[in-house]
Amino acid sequence: MKWGRLHEPCHAKSYNPQKMSDDVQKPDADPYVTNRMGIFEYLLGGSVEKKLLAVRVFDEKVKRATYAKQTQAAKGKGKSNCPLCAVGHDANKARIYDLDEMDADHVSAWSKGGDSTAKNCQMLCITHNRAKGNR
Ligand SMILES: [Zn+2]
Repeated sequence: MKWGRLHEPCHAKSYNPQKMSDDVQKPDADPYVTNRMGIFEYLLGGSVEKKLLAVRVFDEKVKRATYAKQTQAAKGKGKSNCPLCAVGHDANKARIYDLDEMDADHVSAWSKGGDSTAKNCQMLCITHNRAKGNR
């Protein structure tokens, strides 16, 4: 029967609910979900700025992980965990800042296409972060 034969190839490629659900469960899907959560947190925080919705900010999880990594490395070298303080010459060059004394910075500027992933995150002391942001 002609109709049956024509229909066959379509059927083979038809949408498979099990496959779809496997895709959703892949670890790759996680950052997306995390970002969505971040957006919610921002909205709940009362911010409606469009740029924030585009995930301009780093996730808390990313910040904490970056902070821990940077601080550990800095302590090992006896330097400040703010990379800009560490290369300075004042009293702060060996200062270890607390997490709440620092803020996340885009290594590659957000305005130039840098994204908000752990790879593009560095923690700076608040003073240096502001100085950089105002440039
Ligand atoms: Zn600094």
